Parts: sequence; structure tokens; C-alpha cells
Amino acid sequence: MAEIKTRQFKQSAERALRDPQLQAAHARLEHFRTARAAAIAETGQEQWAALQKEARAIKWHTLEHLDHYLGQLATNVERAGGKVFFASTAHEANEYVLDLARRKGVRTVVKSKSMVSEEMGIAELLEKQGIRRVETDLGEYIVQLAHEPPYHIVAPAVHKSKEQVAELFAKELGVPRVADIPGLTAIARQTLRQEFLRADMGMTGANFAVAESGTIAIVTNEGNGRMCSTLPRIHVATMGMERVVPSFRDLGVFLKLLTRSATGQRITSYVSLFSGPRRRDEEDGPEEFHLVILDNGRSRLLGDPELRESLLCIRCGACLNACPVYTTVGGHAYGWVYSGPIGAVVTPVMIGLPKARDLPFASTLCGACKDVCPLKIDLPRMLLTLRREQTQGRVQNRTNTLTEGLLIRAWYLSVRFAWSYRLATRLASWFQRPFVRRGRLRWLPPPLGAWTRARDFPAVASRPFRSRWKKLEKETR
Ligand code: SF4
Repeated sequence: MAEIKTRQFKQSAERALRDPQLQAAHARLEHFRTARAAAIAETGQEQWAALQKEARAIKWHTLEHLDHYLGQLATNVERAGGKVFFASTAHEANEYVLDLARRKGVRTVVKSKSMVSEEMGIAELLEKQGIRRVETDLGEYIVQLAHEPPYHIVAPAVHKSKEQVAELFAKELGVPRVADIPGLTAIARQTLRQEFLRADMGMTGANFAVAESGTIAIVTNEGNGRMCSTLPRIHVATMGMERVVPSFRDLGVFLKLLTRSATGQRITSYVSLFSGPRRRDEEDGPEEFHLVILDNGRSRLLGDPELRESLLCIRCGACLNACPVYTTVGGHAYGWVYSGPIGAVVTPVMIGLPKARDLPFASTLCGACKDVCPLKIDLPRMLLTLRREQTQGRVQNRTNTLTEGLLIRAWYLSVRFAWSYRLATRLASWFQRPFVRRGRLRWLPPPLGAWTRARDFPAVASRPFRSRWKKLEKETR
């Protein structure tokens, strides 16, 4: 399924471009950008840069000793009374959870937001087994009712207007149409409260896992993660294997970066820490705690010196909000769980480059993603690596069109020598004349028309910069 969807990137992107409602929704991402910038300004650039440096050092150290820290994490979770399962693939992770649910007679599972559980595709499998699955993060609940995948790592239903949510609630829950946000959240809260009480199993993700204590940390703004992990008798947490951090001190560094980068908050409303199931002398908490640690392609990333850096990602979503491609085509165009620049890097490795061959090209390589990334991950460099792998034939089935090949060749020849560059810019400035309107190219004939279908392009200057500079120099002498 993933293959079919990612291969439809261009069609999905086109559809999103023509959808005014989606374009309006993308404009709402500005809120995240502003909040993040304000949070960093408040922290201070120097302090922020120091945090970034420290976080990178911790992450690289952890990745270099990943076997040690995962072993330590597993030992400490088990010491606290929990069970740990290492899954090589999503299939193995799903089998573990489904088997557990069957053995324990689970009928309802409440879930809090977890990208790893989306990656596993556990929701559909639970339903196929006749086990009710209820998403309890408000955004995830909305997309579950709409039968859609999440749109954004941090804001799964950012593409829905409040009117659409009102309509959805009225249709799916049989409630009166209420189009104000407090009214809608009240409906969701009332419905979900019953589900929390009814559930036998709660599933959460794990933003981080602390090796030295076997503690799982989850960061939410709605409190649903805490309900999922304490009310049902079984709690299953799923995490990617790169989410382990050595110590509590390290956790503090990552929490500061994550909340500020994701939502511009100093700290989220809830930061919940769990170490194993309920103890004998404790009143709250599950009877059983299971931690599923997923590989699913991460070892391949770890073994690839060019792409390893992507494992530094803490899934804050800042690169999505900054990316001119994501903010234009939206999350569903990417066709799989992870979207935006980080999705364009990790998806091809996780599901195979031939199945996601458009994704490394879904970028302008402007570098905005690297600039905003709290871990300074060099996403543009990795996108270029994946492009190179395709064009150099490591991936056989990328179908470069003849036009694409000729255009790249022409560009290469034009920038190779100073004289050819000068000639090319002169020719371009001459040929573009019929299409220039107020300094912009708003329409170009085929095959260049694909570019101007959804955006315009600054016209090539009628007089090159070099000759203008020379003139200026002469005048100021
Ligand atoms: S790549 Fe960086 S900016 Fe993008 S989600 Fe990961 S940590 Fe955040």
C-alpha cells in the first residue's frame, strides 16, 4: 500500500495545489513558525546554540553505543517489572501486540499519538482482529473519524477547518453541529472519557526512553497520554530504537529542544514519566507494562554513513513547517507516515527507495529545514545522496524522462565554463522576453510550463549583475 501511495506523490501534490481549503490550512502553520521563533528568542541564541551542540553530541554518542544503551534500558525496564520486546520489523512488533491482546482478552484499545504505531500500522490490524481502537489525541481522533492518516507529525488534523470537524462529529457521533472549538473539544472529551474507562489496553509512543532508569517519557498537551498509560490494565509503549537517551540529565536537554521546536512552548502541559507497571503499594497505573522497541530499517540507516544523521531526529516537525514544498503540498502527498523533509529522507530507506522514488525530489534544497532543525540535521545533503543513488543507477527503476535528461545536460554545460554561463544567461534573457510580466515569469510553454503551473519565477535580469557591477565601479571611481 505504501508503494502505491508514494508513487502518487505528483498527483496528490497537484490535487493539494488546487484545493483552496488545504492551501488555507497550510497558512495556519505560520503559527508554529512564529511560536518557535519567539521561544528561541526568549531562550537566547547563544543558549539555543549551546543546547543544539550538546544534543548532537549526546545523540552521536548514544548512536555509537546504541547496543549498550538499549541493553541498559531493557534491563532497567525489566527490573521495574516491565517486559521488553525488540522487533526487527513492523510485522514482528504487530504480532507481539496482537498476540498480547488476544491472550489477555483485550476488547478495546485506547491510543495516544505515536508515529511509530502509525509506522507499524497497528490500528488497522487491531480492528481486523475485532478489537476496538480509539485514538485519544484530539487531532488523531478527528483523522480516525475521517478515515484519514495524520497530516502532520505534531498536528495530525491541521488540514481540517472547525466547520469540517463540526460536520464530521455530527455525522460520526450523532451530536448537534457545534462549530466553535471549545464546544468541539467538549464533545470529544465527553466521548473519549467513556473510552478510557472501558479500555483494557492503552498504547502510547515514547518521545524518549532513559537507559539509566528504564523510564519512558511522553510529551503531550492534552493529558490523554497519561490516561492511556494509567487507566487500562495493560500499557504498551512503542518506540523507535533511536529514542533512547543515556540519562535523566540528557532527557532535560532534549525536552527543552523538542517543546520549543515543535510548538514554541517552554514545556508542554504534560510531561509524563513511567517506569514499569504499578507497584504493590501504588494506587494508580497498569498491571502490566510492555515496551516494544522497533528497528524497521533503522539499522540500515545506522549502517549508512551518508544517511545515519537522520537518526538524530526527535520528530519535532519544525522542518515540515519551514519547508516550502510541505507547506504547499501538505502531508498526505508524501503517501506514508513521515512527511516533509525528514519523511523524504527516512521513508525511502524504510520502505525502499524504488517504492518512494519521488520523495527525495520533493524538495527545493533551499536549506530551510536544516536551519530550523533543533539537531541541525543536514537534510538537504541526505536528499542529494538519495537523488544521486537514483540517478547513478543504484535504483534501477527511476524513469528520468528524455526532457529531464536533456535539460540537466544543458544546465551542466551552461554552468561549466564562465563563457558558457554568460552566453546562457544572455540567451535566457532574450528568449524569455515574450513571457515576462512585471519582472516575473508567470507562464512558460511546455516542457517548462510544469514549473509555472503552480508558481512564478523571477525573470532573468536583462543586464547581468557583472556588467552592472562594472558600470557601478566605473561611476564611483
Ligand atoms: S529533522 Fe529536525 S526539524 Fe525535522 S522533525 Fe526531525 S528534529 Fe525536527
